[in-house]
Amino acid sequence: MNVQNRQIYMDYQATTPCDRRVLEKMLPYFCEEFGNPHSTSHSMGIRAAEAVETARHKVAKIINVSDVREIIFTSGATESGNIVIQGASRFYRKRGNRIITCATEHKCVLEACTAMAREGFDVVVLPVQKNGIVDMDVLKNALREKTVLVSIAWVNNEIGVYQPMEEISCLCREHGALFHSDAAQAVGKIDVDASLVDFLSISGHKIYGPKGIGALYVRIEPRLRLIPLFFGGGQERGIRSGTLPTPLCVGLGEACEIARLEMSEEHKRLTEFKNYFIKKILDGLEKVYLNGDREKRIPGCLNFSFEGIEGESLMLGMPNVCISSGSACTSKTLEPSHVLKAISIREDLAHSSLRIGLGRFTTFAEVEYVSSKLIEVVNRLREMSPIW
Ligand SMILES: *Cc1c(COP(=O)(O)O)cnc(C)c1O
Repeated sequence: MNVQNRQIYMDYQATTPCDRRVLEKMLPYFCEEFGNPHSTSHSMGIRAAEAVETARHKVAKIINVSDVREIIFTSGATESGNIVIQGASRFYRKRGNRIITCATEHKCVLEACTAMAREGFDVVVLPVQKNGIVDMDVLKNALREKTVLVSIAWVNNEIGVYQPMEEISCLCREHGALFHSDAAQAVGKIDVDASLVDFLSISGHKIYGPKGIGALYVRIEPRLRLIPLFFGGGQERGIRSGTLPTPLCVGLGEACEIARLEMSEEHKRLTEFKNYFIKKILDGLEKVYLNGDREKRIPGCLNFSFEGIEGESLMLGMPNVCISSGSACTSKTLEPSHVLKAISIREDLAHSSLRIGLGRFTTFAEVEYVSSKLIEVVNRLREMSPIW
């Protein structure tokens, strides 16, 4: 196998390929077992419903949830986040007018909060420290005002750092604020325990499942209420009306099951790759910086800034490698990503950043090739640069 001539995928935070084992489990539910899982008056519907419930158990298990009614299927983490931020804030508005989130959140959370600000909520966007982590004193201070909801992602999708979830959970409980976490980048990668939160968002296509499916954990003890975003047949406890897409639900369930069983093995392998990659880049080049906390990070997400070089030119220098400069959503614009701005790195360093995503199908040969190639291209570009 010749690494140089193949496309190498290192953008696992943008999306992941669907695991073939997941696809295999999904296939029968398209053309054969196509019953409506809500039409349980006949055997076809019952079999579809059973498949959905088996999947729901598997989703529950990966976040350590025993009451499966707490799992709501949605179309993805964007929808899950919006259901919570809009739906819970509106329902519990009398508890407090403040919504707290943080500057490095995914756009689906930040934009939903902006929409709530237009409805009159007092939205506080917390800064993060230089390592990408929320300062607990700053959060505590923001919580002094009556707060309805706090939304902070478990793991950041651009720099890979994770937040101190136990501490945030404690603070939210002390202050009577509901706590939502966007865990799209955490589930299946590190231990995620839903008992720390009130709401939790999951995305299928970030964990080797299909696109267009996700889940939302909604605490049932004490029972939490939401005003739904759309109304209809009252499926999913009325929180998310609409016929469930059986194949996609089955796919998400299988993706969670595989991730749960293989997580520790995968984590170990990716940690070795990460350590190799970081050491090689930092030893091989001067003026390279790893963005985000060195320790408190998932192994599959690396973000470097290469001083004196545009991230875009670096990518052009290795056209067979699929990586991302800034975040996938913002790299179309010339603005540096809001996450890199939030960790207040110099503007030129934000423009010289690359995110490298390693995952289930990454091989050591690929890690070796891409790290060597990066060093080679950076050195070449710097030699050509008049300012370097
Ligand atoms: C990908 C991602 C989302 C969006 O998930 P979709 O399922 O594509 O809607 C939200 N938050 C984070 C942290 C993500 O990485």
